Amino acid sequence: MTKHTPVGRPLRPRGKLLQEDARRHHRALLLQQLFRDGPASRADLARASGLTRVTVSDLVGEMLADGLVTELGAPAESRVGKPPTLVGLAVDSHHIIGLDLSETDRMSGAVVNLAGSVQARHEVHVDGAQGDEAVALVQHLVSELRAMAERPVLGIGVGSPGVVDTAGTVIDAPNLAWTDTPLAARLAEAFDLPVLVANDANTAVLGEHTFGESGDGGLMVLRVGTGVGAGFVLGGSLLHGHLGAAGEIGHVAVDPDGERCACSRTGCLETILSAPRLRRRVAAPGADGPAELAAVGTRLGEVLAPIVAALNLHEIVLSGPAELLDGPLLDAADRTIRERTMPISSTGLAVRTSKLGEDVVVVGAAVLVLAGELGVS
Ligand SMILES: [Zn+2]
Repeated sequence: MTKHTPVGRPLRPRGKLLQEDARRHHRALLLQQLFRDGPASRADLARASGLTRVTVSDLVGEMLADGLVTELGAPAESRVGKPPTLVGLAVDSHHIIGLDLSETDRMSGAVVNLAGSVQARHEVHVDGAQGDEAVALVQHLVSELRAMAERPVLGIGVGSPGVVDTAGTVIDAPNLAWTDTPLAARLAEAFDLPVLVANDANTAVLGEHTFGESGDGGLMVLRVGTGVGAGFVLGGSLLHGHLGAAGEIGHVAVDPDGERCACSRTGCLETILSAPRLRRRVAAPGADGPAELAAVGTRLGEVLAPIVAALNLHEIVLSGPAELLDGPLLDAADRTIRERTMPISSTGLAVRTSKLGEDVVVVGAAVLVLAGELGVS
């Protein structure tokens, strides 16, 4: 028995792959720094990353050739000697296609630059399309957006309803009749581009975290649309959960005598908080709109309080129709959370609506691609 006897056959040769992985990782370190802190000299990048000057110069040269970074000249306050040249992320060098499939009546998409700024938009009507027909509609939307992109496209990001696994397969999305639908694989095959798919609430929380002026202290985004779901970024990472279903708080039962839910159970939070149900409630004959919204906000606060206490969150962002969420509903939820938790849990807590508005999912979908392709988020 010699030490050269393999135990088993690896899937593919490892040595070269590891080297490429290291290079990719080093590149991501530099891009992440430029993304987070803005332009820097090669010396600054070496100091902050711990990489050698030679490695940094080499990687910067490669990224200049790819157009991902650009040289910006010397900083104004340079003193003696040859001033260092600053390097910055070239935010308009590439475009990303971001899709939001969470609405029932339409699929919307945008062409987004590397700074999360929307450059162009397009949408298609769903008209009851389901299954393969709905996948074909997504492909049509991507084709239109790709034609609108004026830069090389870095990849396609998708915020989909339902539970989505890490390979981008939609496990279950009842509205689109998708079950184990390999959406990422089918789009990648059709367009020969990297494709990343995630649940729309997870996509939204990434958008808010990266481009929505949020802090780093624990963020929850609650999406209120046809369905209700949440996404969490804790310690700078998206929370997936044991089976990828973290954040499914829309199906916590809040009323045992309540209405039937899409999940076939009774009285879920979604049955009082989804946008259609809220609209119906407010428009009911004789209803006092603000009081009805406040009542739902109180129930929401009751569901959120233990989550706030358990996670000591910094921000809760409500994302959905502002005319329903921003006002009595948000105020009542905020008040209820504070009444039901210790001051240490709620003192630093901000409860607000998203500054990205309805773009939060398409921008978040672009963040999926930034993170997946460049290691930046
Ligand atoms: Zn339910």
